[in-house]
Amino acid sequence: MTLQEADQHFIHTYNRSVIFQKGEGMYLFDNQGKKYLDMGAGIAVSALGYSNEEYKQGLKDQIDKLIHTSNLYYTEPAIKAAEKLSAASGMDRVFFTNSGAEAIEGALKLARIYAHHKNPLCKGEIIAMEHSFHGRTMGALSVTGTKHYREPFEPLIGGVSFARYNDLESVRALVTKDTCAIILETLQGEGGIHPADPAFIQGIRELCDTYDIALILDEIQCGMGRSGKMFTYEHYGIRPDIMTSAKALGCGVPVGAFAATEKFAEAMNPGDHGTTYGGNPLATAAVCKVFEIFEKEKILDHVNEVAPYLTAQLKQLAQKHPDKIKDCRGLGLMQGIELTIPAGEVVAKALEAGVVLISAGTNIIRFVPPLVVEREHIDQTIQILDDILA
Ligand SMILES: *Cc1c(COP(=O)(O)O)cnc(C)c1O
Repeated sequence: MTLQEADQHFIHTYNRSVIFQKGEGMYLFDNQGKKYLDMGAGIAVSALGYSNEEYKQGLKDQIDKLIHTSNLYYTEPAIKAAEKLSAASGMDRVFFTNSGAEAIEGALKLARIYAHHKNPLCKGEIIAMEHSFHGRTMGALSVTGTKHYREPFEPLIGGVSFARYNDLESVRALVTKDTCAIILETLQGEGGIHPADPAFIQGIRELCDTYDIALILDEIQCGMGRSGKMFTYEHYGIRPDIMTSAKALGCGVPVGAFAATEKFAEAMNPGDHGTTYGGNPLATAAVCKVFEIFEKEKILDHVNEVAPYLTAQLKQLAQKHPDKIKDCRGLGLMQGIELTIPAGEVVAKALEAGVVLISAGTNIIRFVPPLVVEREHIDQTIQILDDILA
């Protein structure tokens, strides 16, 4: 099979240049047998790396038992997964989805129905952030801050306005009696790896408390241990009213979730929301396994041990190439370097050299490796980047 053959069959929403065949630990192999170090984890998904034996066995066991029943019934993996996600997130109730975007849709619907129950005349306005990314479905796209992602698909859902990330006054200025939600990523990913200032997040928490507005924190990319805490909001000593998870939640099996505190969760009753597949036994068996392996293999401890090394190496690289690297930032194993040159060219050269990297925006390289990454993998990546930048 060739790329030319593949390109004939797909709607061209991506520029793809490799056909991957299998994965092992930190490495991927293409259909020519070439080996690649993976520092992108399938966009922050494959937190356990590839081919983890215990994870695979958990899935195989579940396939033999039951794959799907619909949400008209409970299944044991779903119950266990909901219990684990609630415990890990500090939320009270969970709804499983098939993707991140769907988790965002559910979170927005929950915020709106909560406001509607309080006051049926509430217009359900939502405040989102510039440079945010929440997904590609119509609702998620409506709160995504990048204009050129949104504009060709308008009209989107109404009542959305955009504030500046890390500018509390710009958020405050948009709050009206019709505001039902403020939505943001606890650490902006796609928009360029921007961590939140504590005063910003804490100030938004206070705003939401004062006006009884839902604080929705999108932890789809930055959650599940990536920042060094299970969920990034733990760094700030706050809790959202509604949170979204996906990406590493299933470590490759498509699954997402939105979760809420009791007060907000109560607003949804039978018939108000649903999904046929969401949280089916196969997907939630993956979620259970992921949480079990995180605990057993002390993944969080590992992130906190290895992340400072990545930070230090990136800083050193930046000092070596001050004309090409403008800034380094991030938290834990979610870091970015801002370049003065197009990131796409560097990513393409790295791929050729056998390292999978991903960009964020046009000039940022984002490091979101599997959380099992070791120093030697970081060294290999830095070496190749050093050569490319030289
Ligand atoms: C990837 C991502 C989404 C969308 O998730 P999908 O599974 O692609 O729908 C939403 N929010 C954030 C922060 C993301 O990184």
